[in-house]
Amino acid sequence: MLLAGVGDGPSLSAHRARFGALPTPDLDAVLSAVGAAAVAGRGGAGFPFARKVAAAAAGKRRHVVVVNLSEGEPASAKDTALALLAPHQILDGAEVVARALRTKEIHVVTPQERPAVADAITRAVDERAAAETRGGRGGPRWQLHSAAPGFVSGQAQAVLELLAGRPGLPVTAWQPEAISGLDGRPTLLSNAETWAQVAAVLRLGPLRYAAHGTFAEPGTTLLTLPHESDPDTAVVVETAYGTPWVSVLGAAVDRPVLLGGFHGTWAGAGVLAGARVSRVDLQQQGLTLGAGVVLPLPTGQCPIAFTWEIVDYLAGQSAQRCGPCRNGLPALAAEVGRLATGNPAVSWTRIAELVGLVERRGACAHPDGTARLVRSMLTTFDDEVGLHLAGRCGR
Ligand code: SF4
Repeated sequence: MLLAGVGDGPSLSAHRARFGALPTPDLDAVLSAVGAAAVAGRGGAGFPFARKVAAAAAGKRRHVVVVNLSEGEPASAKDTALALLAPHQILDGAEVVARALRTKEIHVVTPQERPAVADAITRAVDERAAAETRGGRGGPRWQLHSAAPGFVSGQAQAVLELLAGRPGLPVTAWQPEAISGLDGRPTLLSNAETWAQVAAVLRLGPLRYAAHGTFAEPGTTLLTLPHESDPDTAVVVETAYGTPWVSVLGAAVDRPVLLGGFHGTWAGAGVLAGARVSRVDLQQQGLTLGAGVVLPLPTGQCPIAFTWEIVDYLAGQSAQRCGPCRNGLPALAAEVGRLATGNPAVSWTRIAELVGLVERRGACAHPDGTARLVRSMLTTFDDEVGLHLAGRCGR
């Protein structure tokens, strides 16, 4: 659905030839379509998009629309893939909703460390502006921004800080950005895949959109996986909800899989065999698909050492503003490091205590996401944890 036209190239003319003119639904039609299709945010939080639009629409001040392409998660490449291969899918979604909200102000945030994304979006925006001029119409005002590299710079509040001209770092959100976002105005901020899914729903209508997926979860989702023979290369696939995991992962379905990326949760060996791609099913098992990053544990690799590498990286990625990040995450990374290396000074109790100490105490969810990963490692790999506490590693 989202990637259907990638063989045609990323140009606006190819996009319009395949998918037709920009739909022009009014606000009620947008709300009804995205509600019926159960579109939820694909940046990780999974918040229902219709509720966001309704909250923003209730605001009296001029609305702001934001396309967030700054995937801070290094293991995620889906928004980048969309920008390079199908940029107009993303921009269509943002433009249709902006028109329904009667605003012309659309901001697009791209990641500095992936300059090809900014190039692709600049080209796409220029094409759209030229088409508007040829048609004698006044299009939206696209404003492009570049987010500094960093795991937390794609976080919604960090993006709003960047748009406000301040350092793009997370701050405490007193209200959802849909109610009070940029300059206190109602701000509809979503990641690239969400906007592309919105475009697909509004183009097809909820019934045709539901031709893929399941009754409870219509449509598709983008997943980022490591390449089978070159794990350092990311592969992005579009998968209908309800697809068996074995069709996505092949033989790797029997291995432990880190779902949802660096802030995600571990599915133990074999848990996904016989299961299907479903956020609802995963949630019932205490798992999360987050932004769609799927990382099978490399063959022969120790899951404790693998998790430690990530926790150590995350500890260095905070904005160093809040106590749990300044003190808690480095201490947690050090303790998980002791576990991974079989250091006799390690304490399971201390790890569990640090997890509890950092949770729900930061201005943003960075400490919570890191704690979730460590907690998941402790429960999923309890045998391996036991071996490491005894100074041994089974791999
Ligand atoms: S919790 Fe951490 S990452 Fe989030 S704002 Fe505070 S210091 Fe920054």
